[in-house]
Amino acid sequence: MKVALFWHRRDLRLHDNTGLYHALRSGLPVLPLFIFDREILDKLSDPADARVEFLHQQITRLHTELAGLGSTLLVKHGSPEQVWPQLLQELEVAAVYANHDYEPYARERDNLIFSFLNTENIPFHTFKDQCVFEKAEVVKDDGKPYTVFTPYSRRWKLRLQQAGGPGRFPSETLGQHFLPTPPSPLPTLAQMGFTPTGRAFPAPVVADDLLRQYGAKRDQPALPGTSRLSVHLRFGTVSIRELVSRGLALSEPWLNELIWRDFYMMILWHFPHVAQRAFKPAYDGIAWRNQPQEFAAWCEGRTGYPIVDAGMRELNTTGFMHNRVRMIVASFLTKHLLIDWRWGEAYFAQKLLDFDLAANNGGWQWAAGSGCDAAPYFRVFNPTLQAQKFDPELRYVRRWVPEFSSLSYPRPLVPHELARERALATYKAGLGQVAVSEGE
Ligand SMILES: Cc1cc2nc3c(=O)[nH]c(=O)nc-3n(C[C@H](O)[C@H](O)[C@H](O)COP(=O)(O)OP(=O)(O)OC[C@H]3O[C@@H](n4cnc5c(N)ncnc54)[C@H](O)[C@@H]3O)c2cc1C
Repeated sequence: MKVALFWHRRDLRLHDNTGLYHALRSGLPVLPLFIFDREILDKLSDPADARVEFLHQQITRLHTELAGLGSTLLVKHGSPEQVWPQLLQELEVAAVYANHDYEPYARERDNLIFSFLNTENIPFHTFKDQCVFEKAEVVKDDGKPYTVFTPYSRRWKLRLQQAGGPGRFPSETLGQHFLPTPPSPLPTLAQMGFTPTGRAFPAPVVADDLLRQYGAKRDQPALPGTSRLSVHLRFGTVSIRELVSRGLALSEPWLNELIWRDFYMMILWHFPHVAQRAFKPAYDGIAWRNQPQEFAAWCEGRTGYPIVDAGMRELNTTGFMHNRVRMIVASFLTKHLLIDWRWGEAYFAQKLLDFDLAANNGGWQWAAGSGCDAAPYFRVFNPTLQAQKFDPELRYVRRWVPEFSSLSYPRPLVPHELARERALATYKAGLGQVAVSEGE
């Protein structure tokens, strides 16, 4: 029987899924597909990588949901380049549907599969789903991409208003169009070379009350004041359109964070060089100190600055770090220790459950000063003042660094004032003329 394949990637849900909605309306029976991609899995160094476990749990859930609808999720394990020719041997594929993905590897992969399907005369239909506005949908009057957030967000909101809101694609109402078929086998974590961690993952829900109080509580890491939806947004187990509707109704500051997410995806799309180099080229001239022992102390939460160490220990233990603390530890690494932002970016990429290339790169380049709309190079966060302001009762610090006031706690790796002077001098030297005009 001829089928349409719907290829799930960062959209692991059956509801409000744009590409799936279009597939289910195509007139062809739809068979959903997921590929555990060896190209990605082979780059993970830790066999107990909690993201693979999370992914495996979500794939199992989708598989069960589809079995409940009399269909299945076809799950393959290999490199997409090898899996696709095999699929065409096994099935009579009349069309393929998927949602857009904006990271450089994903773009390359999709171009390759597009060309392959094209040679087989199979159409590959792809749709926007991961963000509200993509690519060049929100640009300046002259058609150029925004590189500053505030005007971008203003135009973003105007576009949304003109569109009458984020809309919805009710794929969940079209379940009768899935291919009726018995459940297909699922590879286990062990078969893919991974082990479970037993870690508890955040639920894919957020309370109205939390969103209403978000503006007041979002910067205090000791509180459960943020949504903790980032891992779900990363894998598309929640719908960005549904969240934007909630943001519009309940919390402008939270809506703005969702817009930052679109903003960084748009930046990565227009300026893919940011994945390797500074957004502002002059910042590639900074002479980083890159001391390995200091980097190790930062990674392990032994810098002697309690708020920095608390953040790194939270990350190492849970795979999450509060946004305010991400900013503090990133500023500390790049400015106090003068370690290349790419080292910190790579460490976060390895550890964060919610790792997302666009947001992570954006966050790191913001902290280092090298990004679009970044913190100016001469703003050097004082970790002690940041802690006093955002963790005044030291509840967050005590949770992660209980020994912070004892003799066993290390002395600061570098005194703040010295680090500040050194950072300013190094940045100035690296940036030359640019720094002088930015400082004025
Ligand atoms: C150095 C650094 C690295 C970061 N790396 C990542 C990353 O790899 N993945 C990631 O999703 N976020 C990253 N962020 C952004 C932010 O810290 C997290 O999105 C947020 O802490 C997740 O918690 P939450 O879901 O409770 O967020 P909430 O505060 O509830 O925000 C809701 C959602 O908005 C999005 N969001 C919030 N802040 C930002 C932001 N500044 N930029 C882009 N999107 C945002 C996220 O999808 C988040 O889940 C990084 C920030 C910094 C400073």
